[in-house]
Amino acid sequence: MKTSSILIDFLKRNWYKYLLGFLALVMVDLLQVYVPRIVGKIVDSLNTETMNFAELKIMIGWIMAAASGMFLGRFLWRYFLGGASRYFLLETMNRMFSKMLSLTPGFFDRMRSGELMARFTNDLSLLRRVLGQGAILLFDSFIMVLMVFIFMIGNVGWKLAWISFAPLLLLVPTSMSFGRLIHRRVADVQRSFSELSGFTEETINGIRIVKSFSSEDVSFGIFEEKANVNFRDTLRAVKVSSVFRPLITLIASSSFFLALLYGGRAVINEKITLGDFIAFNSYLGMLIWPMMAYGFMVDLFQRGRAAMRRMDTIFTAQPEVKEPERPVKIDHFKSVIIRDLTYRYPGTDRPVLKNINMKVKRGEMIGIVGSVGSGKTTIAKLLMKLYPVERGKIFINGVDINDISSEDLRRIFTLVPQETFLFSDTIRNNITVGMKNVDEKEIERVTKLAAVYEDIMSFPEKFDTVVGERGVTLSGGQRQRITIARALIRDFEVYIFDDCLSAVDPETEEKIISSIRNSMKGKTIIVITHRLKVLKDADRIYVLDDGFIKEEGRHEELLSRDGIYSRMYRKQLIEGG
Ligand code: ADP
Repeated sequence: MKTSSILIDFLKRNWYKYLLGFLALVMVDLLQVYVPRIVGKIVDSLNTETMNFAELKIMIGWIMAAASGMFLGRFLWRYFLGGASRYFLLETMNRMFSKMLSLTPGFFDRMRSGELMARFTNDLSLLRRVLGQGAILLFDSFIMVLMVFIFMIGNVGWKLAWISFAPLLLLVPTSMSFGRLIHRRVADVQRSFSELSGFTEETINGIRIVKSFSSEDVSFGIFEEKANVNFRDTLRAVKVSSVFRPLITLIASSSFFLALLYGGRAVINEKITLGDFIAFNSYLGMLIWPMMAYGFMVDLFQRGRAAMRRMDTIFTAQPEVKEPERPVKIDHFKSVIIRDLTYRYPGTDRPVLKNINMKVKRGEMIGIVGSVGSGKTTIAKLLMKLYPVERGKIFINGVDINDISSEDLRRIFTLVPQETFLFSDTIRNNITVGMKNVDEKEIERVTKLAAVYEDIMSFPEKFDTVVGERGVTLSGGQRQRITIARALIRDFEVYIFDDCLSAVDPETEEKIISSIRNSMKGKTIIVITHRLKVLKDADRIYVLDDGFIKEEGRHEELLSRDGIYSRMYRKQLIEGG
């Protein structure tokens, strides 16, 4: 769904809020143009001494009534129009987030997270402003200019009204171009500021590296340069707005100047009364803001349109992995077969897997090894349905993977990646993530299996220790083992460990994998690793090189051949791995 359709859909469902808000606006505007009239009358009556004190009090009573009416009206339009735009923000934000969750990793490969964040913050709030402030400005300035102008003509005649009004027309292009310029300069300031704060944050995080390379001077040099750029940008922005305000005042005063000149003459010639003249001046003052608003509005709407186009990149994105219309259900895992698979990532030409044939049966332990970039992770990601694969290449229990729903598949398969991700939360919550009523014994069992139980027990709060920014700093190996425990606590049938123990010492990795295997009979384990010893009991090992499977067999078999595997193994023995 396009962002514009979302907008129209929202307006269709919330039109009455806009109607009520606009009615309140009209009421306020009417009362507002009514007040100068009364003031004008009071002045005239006082001037000609035809009013007594009792009448004066009545008139003032009217002004107060109008003021209370305006108070109520202003509250109401803010309530309806401001409220509607906030509601739009909430609704669209939720929609955008859930849309994002429905997309597959390919989308996130293409979009940087900063860019996505900007959709959620800048673009959404810009659109909210279009719907709130923008709608108000548009309607209010139109009604206001129309009414005030009609009142002015009734008040002093069209000639004087036009002459004094003419200079105010200049406010539209002036505020339009200045609005644009100010916005551009402010955006520069924001950009250079975020560069500065980004660099500061990075330096704080990497302070140990800065120190160990003694590169404080270099860092300071970069900081100083970025701070200077930000300073220059700020000055440029201030310059524009310091010209803008006085310029508006200048244009407005030329209008008052004409009003004084021609209006004064009309009073002298007794064409209009002094009261008319005073009311007329208030009217002119009332026109300044709406005329400026026209200029701002054009700018706001243009930027709103650009924001909508950017939001379309999320709203119109389609998950690359299509869910089957009639999914075939799989109850228990039996086998994976990969047949003549040559794979290119979406939008690329280079094959990263070439003519792959593989077989995994229930209860087996399968090893995948190979140098960095040989395609190991790609196989894991395809088995998890994270990227699209053509039909007739991967079969689970004999069913084409494209006919199995992702949800069903991920009930059975899990992937533990090399990069760990822990939330700033307790260790317990990091393991159970979203599971309810988990038995304490279960948590103990899986952490023991992942060989991280002892470590956790040594922390002051044990399982309730908070990790991450707000809590203890874990070693890479501890993080990886907690991530494994997170996968083990859920009852999957196929575990794919993608080099997820790289930060653990070789003996521990071996111990963890074999104890997982021994205690989880019947489970299927696919291990991607660099440490070949881990695979000595594997049922089958695939050796990948540049996207091809070059060798295949058990540990001993592969060692007896003088191939890639045995060379890798000898090298590891020498290195003590
Ligand atoms: P390994 O796990 O063996 O280190 P990968 O499967 O991660 O290798 O990567 C195999 C090749 O695929 C690499 O050349 C890598 O650059 C490429 N690749 C990995 N992910 C993507 C992606 N999302 N889009 C395009 N190319 C990718």
